[in-house]
Amino acid sequence: MSQKPYISIVIPVYNEELNIRPLFERLYPVMQGTGKPFEIIFTDDGSRDRSMEILKGLANAHQEVKVVEFNGNFGQHMAILAAFEKSTGEIVVTLDADLQNPPEEIPKLVAEVEKGHDVVGSVRQSRQDTLFRRLASRIVNISTNKMTGMRMSDYGCMLRAYHRNIVDNINRCQETTTFIPALAQTFASNPSEVLVAHAERAEGESKYSLYKLIRLNFDLMTGFSVVPLQLFALMGIVTSCFSVLFALFLLVRRFVVGAEVEGVFTLFAILFFLIGIVIFGIGLVGEYVGRVYQEVRRRPRYVIRRVHGFGE
Ligand code: UDP
Ligand code: MG
Repeated sequence: MSQKPYISIVIPVYNEELNIRPLFERLYPVMQGTGKPFEIIFTDDGSRDRSMEILKGLANAHQEVKVVEFNGNFGQHMAILAAFEKSTGEIVVTLDADLQNPPEEIPKLVAEVEKGHDVVGSVRQSRQDTLFRRLASRIVNISTNKMTGMRMSDYGCMLRAYHRNIVDNINRCQETTTFIPALAQTFASNPSEVLVAHAERAEGESKYSLYKLIRLNFDLMTGFSVVPLQLFALMGIVTSCFSVLFALFLLVRRFVVGAEVEGVFTLFAILFFLIGIVIFGIGLVGEYVGRVYQEVRRRPRYVIRRVHGFGE
């Protein structure tokens, strides 16, 4: 009979047919090397390639491998949540399927949890992504830390380890849009970070289009902070103050110099700028309202078609 796993590895998969086997061939020996009972839970996030077939093969061949098969594409974070619910290990490690996170780093993370840290984040050393992605991440990291008051160096790196308590708390959350590293951080009492290597995506292309990336970052910003709304309110106050000053100036000018007739286009410029701010604000409020709406409908966050390898 199989022992209760001590380490659960959680891997979201979306159209990664070329990466699954190479990943598994590196991951499996690393896990065997730990000498501890483990399980590897893949969530197939509605792949349309041969990923599911390959995963089923792995689940049949190895009793440690389990697969949660989604009914459609619900996103990376939902895929991880579904696997969290099924996981039973004392320590739960997440990583990407595309070999950007080297599986060889897992023991380092596990050791850090064993030292007593309940959330172990990681920081990608010499990150192998496009300049655009690296710059965008830098902005996200700095602004999210400022807005949420959390302290994390690399929000985007999914190679992370969590203690069972943290995963149990995450499992109690029912939010429909989320960002797991940030969610875990809110429950952490003793978080730490380690440096990990980073590789280029082995095969295939990033599963995040620019649009999906922006949506994900809105989930992060709005999901963990209302500072954007507060900043917007502040901006409104500041503009109002300037408007009053400007009106006073025009009033005085009218008596001193006479009526203002020119400067129509300057007025347009100022107006467009202000309208821009207003539209931005409405959009921002919309982001929050949309998420509230999503939450109140209470629809299932994901649909599991079938599970493989969990026994029974
Ligand atoms: N992924 C997923 N569902 C999605 C998008 C991505 O399960 O809708 C998985 C993907 O298969 C990979 C991980 O999430 O294992 C990270 O995706 P990707 O490598 O494309 O993101 P990037 O590294 O470009 O940020
Ligand atoms: Mg990747």
